[in-house]
Amino acid sequence: MTVYLASGNAHKAREFQALADGLAPVRRLPVEIISAAAMGGMPQVVEDAGSFTGNARKKARALQDRLPAGAWALADDSGLCVDALAGAPGVESAYYAGPRASGAENLAKLVAVMRDVPDERRAAHFACVLVLIGPDRDEHVFEGRCDGRLGRQPAGVGGFGYDPLFVPDGYDRTFAELEAATKNELSHRGRAWAALAAWLHENAPA
Ligand code: IMP
Repeated sequence: MTVYLASGNAHKAREFQALADGLAPVRRLPVEIISAAAMGGMPQVVEDAGSFTGNARKKARALQDRLPAGAWALADDSGLCVDALAGAPGVESAYYAGPRASGAENLAKLVAVMRDVPDERRAAHFACVLVLIGPDRDEHVFEGRCDGRLGRQPAGVGGFGYDPLFVPDGYDRTFAELEAATKNELSHRGRAWAALAAWLHENAPA
């Protein structure tokens, strides 16, 4: 089956394709992920719903409106939630250091904000919500979460965004230091995808 991804980001489409190809918990799902970029671009969506689910739903609906009847639309929204910051940056993760901030600028701001926070108060988690809209416009929500803690200085060159500061529970290296395959297995996106894949296995056409 073909799933259209509500993102113009080719990197994200590849990441979801890797999840679809390799990490389904039930069986390898024959799913092809096609980015909205290949469908004439992702419609402009203001991510102002105030929750990961609300934002993902807005993006999935905007894409579904543009697709041929009977198509499957998928959108995700994700971010980093820090306990000591009452869940910030959360839905603002992409814009933490300003509306046009780069990933490096957002990371640098988090390092600075957390400078005086002691080790025992550095818990954080990544969250991801996937919204899948089926051919009958039926909407399905899947969530994934990865708990961990923040280091003091960025470490590692892999991944993106806040990866160099985030150490998942059970590990002593950051997401940016771990193998991509390890991160995909543990990550909020990997876990949300696993939930979606289990649902597709039960409900999607063969
Ligand atoms: P979005 O889901 O594309 O809106 O991503 C929101 C923001 O959350 C990204 O720009 C990153 O700052 C952060 N983020 C989401 N997932 C990850 C991850 O796996 N590693 C590091 N940062 C992430």
